[in-house]
Amino acid sequence: MSSNESIISLEGVSFNYNQHPVLQDINLSILPGQFIGIIGPNGSGKTTLLKLISGILSPKQGKIKIFNEDIDTISRKKIAKMISLVPQDSFISYNYKVKEVVFMGRIPFINQWRGETALDYQISREAMEKTDSLCYAEKGIHQISGGEAQRVYIARALAQSPKILMLDEFTSHLDLSYKYEIVKILQDSLKEKVQCIISVFHDLNLASYCSDQLILLNEGIIEEIGTPQEVINEYNLKKVYRAKNHIVQHPELAIPQVIM
Ligand code: ADP
Repeated sequence: MSSNESIISLEGVSFNYNQHPVLQDINLSILPGQFIGIIGPNGSGKTTLLKLISGILSPKQGKIKIFNEDIDTISRKKIAKMISLVPQDSFISYNYKVKEVVFMGRIPFINQWRGETALDYQISREAMEKTDSLCYAEKGIHQISGGEAQRVYIARALAQSPKILMLDEFTSHLDLSYKYEIVKILQDSLKEKVQCIISVFHDLNLASYCSDQLILLNEGIIEEIGTPQEVINEYNLKKVYRAKNHIVQHPELAIPQVIM
């Protein structure tokens, strides 16, 4: 696949829950190697967009293609081998051990005749090492803090060896040091097997820090799409968030940061 061929494309995608329209006429084309941030006010459709691209929901109108294949025609198993999603509030009702939760990322790859292999365990272990969660591998998922569990769910997504990694608000429980550490791990994953990362952000400064491209959603439509410099400005933010804001440049990086 050439570097200017899109790996994800949406054409005229609309979605509604019952009679309630949520996304309207979304057109998108995502190139390999990119970190895409989705921002916008509460209820603007960010999570719904992520669920559509990961095949959890189907559009009411329009087409979604992943690696040039219509997503509706791709089997669940094949999607699970290509896409991993870290949902906003991951929760597992049974108190599995952390290492078992991470190993769940390998399930799509386990051949029912051959069973799991040493490579599956090695990949899971590496994902725990990367996210600094190996130290509580034997603990129950209910016996660790929210921030620790968030790292475990990211480890599970990495263990899935996805081509497309999607995250919804992955930093909500992380402290500052882990926030930047996880961002670094995600950015490094783009140099390995992951071909594209799409993440929903509430934190506009982190979105600006991480993303090559930002999608600004407003009431179910794309208000603006482009680099953080193109998208994050006082006009766009006032229009969409209806709040006064000031934009300053990051002291070391050529990226905009928002202050109240
Ligand atoms: P965001 O992630 O931007 O906060 P969402 O995509 O979660 O927005 O939700 C968009 C809109 O769809 C909101 O008005 C929300 O109330 C509604 N919505 C989300 N999930 C459901 C659902 N399962 N059933 C009905 N309405 C929903």
